[in-house]
Amino acid sequence: MRILLAEDDLLLGDGIRAGLGLEGDTVDWVTDGLAAEQALSTDEFDLLVLDLGLPRRDGLDVLRGMRRRGDLTPVLILTARDKVADRVAGLDSGADDYLSKPFDLDELLARVRALTRRHTGRAQPALEHGELRLDPATHQVTLAGAPVELAPREYALLRLLLEQRGKVLSRTRLVEALYGWDGELESNAIEVHVHHLRRKLGNELIRTVRGIGYGIDRPADKASS
Ligand code: CA
Repeated sequence: MRILLAEDDLLLGDGIRAGLGLEGDTVDWVTDGLAAEQALSTDEFDLLVLDLGLPRRDGLDVLRGMRRRGDLTPVLILTARDKVADRVAGLDSGADDYLSKPFDLDELLARVRALTRRHTGRAQPALEHGELRLDPATHQVTLAGAPVELAPREYALLRLLLEQRGKVLSRTRLVEALYGWDGELESNAIEVHVHHLRRKLGNELIRTVRGIGYGIDRPADKASS
């Protein structure tokens, strides 16, 4: 992700740039409002982190100007002034989120992630189940935040079971979903995928209903059983 950082506090800017860099983002850093406008007019960014108190052009003016031009880049504003009015003005001028200084770098990074998630307009929200998370937009699966490598059919099976959480899906249904009508199929293909998923994600996740099929319980189902 490419982020434009507009911050005239050199120490703070350096910390933000380093933190975002560790997240794998590319950060272009400007230290005044005019330079920010210039960068926005010539380059595309996925996010603008904008200090409101900037020299040469106030952050609010930068924000209003870009929204007037129809620039929809997500904006996270930073304000040193602990005034509600500032934050309200910022949000009303088209900012997507704000942080009041001083703030924790971890919180800034989390807000940046949240904003970019929203902005990338994922067609479907991530599927979450306990510590397991599957993101249909990126095909990424994580367990307690750690990426899990799944083969394509394992991924497809997991996604289907998560989408149909609380139901038991028959073997036939799963075979059709994964292989379509024409797939030549060893009789135990689904069992093998389930075995691999259990090995990677834990034995408790997928329930076998003998003679019927497989399912993932909703958390509430689990609690009541
Ligand atoms: Ca400032």
